[in-house]
Amino acid sequence: MSDRYAQVIGTPPGRFVARRVGLPRPAPLERWRPGAPLVSGRVLLGAAPGGWLAEPAARVLASAGVRAATTPDRPLREAAAAAGLDAALHNRRTAGEETFKALVFDATGIADSTRLVELQGFFHPEVPHLEPSGRVVVLGTPPANCGGGRAATAQRALEGFTRALAKELGRGSTAQLVLVEPGGEDEIESTLRFLLSPRSAYVSGQVVLVGPAVAAGEVDWKRPLAGRTALVTGAARGIGEAIAETLSRDGGNVVALDVPAQSAQLREVADRLGGDAFELDVTAPDAPAAVAERFSEGIDVVVHNAGVTRDRTLAKMPADRWTELMEINLSSEERINDALLDAGVLRPNGRIVCVSSVSGIAGNAGQTNYSTSKAGVIGMVEALAPVVAERGVTINAVAPGFIETQMTSRMPFALREAGRRMNSLSQGGLPVDVAEAIAWFAGSGSGSLNGNVVRVCGQSLIGA
Ligand code: NAD
Repeated sequence: MSDRYAQVIGTPPGRFVARRVGLPRPAPLERWRPGAPLVSGRVLLGAAPGGWLAEPAARVLASAGVRAATTPDRPLREAAAAAGLDAALHNRRTAGEETFKALVFDATGIADSTRLVELQGFFHPEVPHLEPSGRVVVLGTPPANCGGGRAATAQRALEGFTRALAKELGRGSTAQLVLVEPGGEDEIESTLRFLLSPRSAYVSGQVVLVGPAVAAGEVDWKRPLAGRTALVTGAARGIGEAIAETLSRDGGNVVALDVPAQSAQLREVADRLGGDAFELDVTAPDAPAAVAERFSEGIDVVVHNAGVTRDRTLAKMPADRWTELMEINLSSEERINDALLDAGVLRPNGRIVCVSSVSGIAGNAGQTNYSTSKAGVIGMVEALAPVVAERGVTINAVAPGFIETQMTSRMPFALREAGRRMNSLSQGGLPVDVAEAIAWFAGSGSGSLNGNVVRVCGQSLIGA
């Protein structure tokens, strides 16, 4: 559905009034189109002395073919050269004369709070010149891997920095923190490619954990799902339809599942994508067995997207309303996972990707049932991550905020406007924004991402 406010504010008189009255001014967000470059401008790479991720980051920039520059620090120049990155020299004295589309900073060398000023030193001159829909990525070490003490304190501090900077950037720009466990330095490519590109348009203020290397073959970054079979539940419309389209764009063979009542729409989606339609109510008693049977030859990606709201305050919540929602949003997902794992049909390097919600993190009045189910989805991810890792499979979740769909178009006007504006990007996201995050987790190059919950909410002010 259309955001009329954003359209009006996008006109010169609208912009004038908004500036004068202090209204939110949502910037148009750049979104990725096939054939477009990964980053539509130059990337500046910087590093605090003594870090360990500048060279791997430079390798990714070289592999992705982006135009890059580095600050003049000698170890960083050497790391970039060793990585094969052809990077221009960016003299800080000329800051303001050059603009960048993305700023990447390796902060892993910051081992003491007195050195956190390195963040200020790198970002202060550059941030005013970040291009619209720009990207900031800070690289850090998980505090748990710092051996405690001052290094752990300093690395933990990166989170506050990144989240606060994300709130300051404006103009459709975003900032994220990527924490890399030891041994994960060669596993950051899928994450950097996602976070630096317009694919992450509505993801901001997030912390992503990259684990150690896993055995995986060559990745075709243009079609990271080539040859892989992906099941998407709730795929007849809304976010599920966008997920099916995006996974198909990335080369996946999509099996689109929805209830028999959505048969016509489901077939239209499946036919358009050259995929298969699978009519099934995920809560049916025989659904887990039916899914395992359908994929008896093996499956690579399962996306649990089907979900409903059945809003009432708890005082007015009948048990059947609670149970119907819990069955669709959570319990059926647990049963389907168990059936697939018991049948051993999830292939190595397989993926389970779940759809939680910001309501599952922050809670929402009138949604005790929904918030419970979506927090449960996060619990399921956390509980299953170590279990599925033993089979070379990962499980992650995305937690959407306000996304423009039929579900949100039914919200009362005031709530809908609040949901749209109360985030750092001052607008709602699109179904494709959720789909892009799911495609990132689902891709064959994302085997070191396990147990993550990433919000696709424009850094909603609701929740963490
Ligand atoms: P939607 O209502 O447009 O689509 C949901 C789809 O799931 C429908 O096609 C529906 O038929 C299907 N479905 C429902 N029950 C099913 C069942 N028992 N078996 C199989 N399929 C079933 O909703 P949406 O906005 O596209 O939401 C998709 C997911 O994203 C849901 O899990 C939702 O909770 C989550 N989410 C949405 C938003 C948002 O702003 N729209 C925000 C946070 C989370």
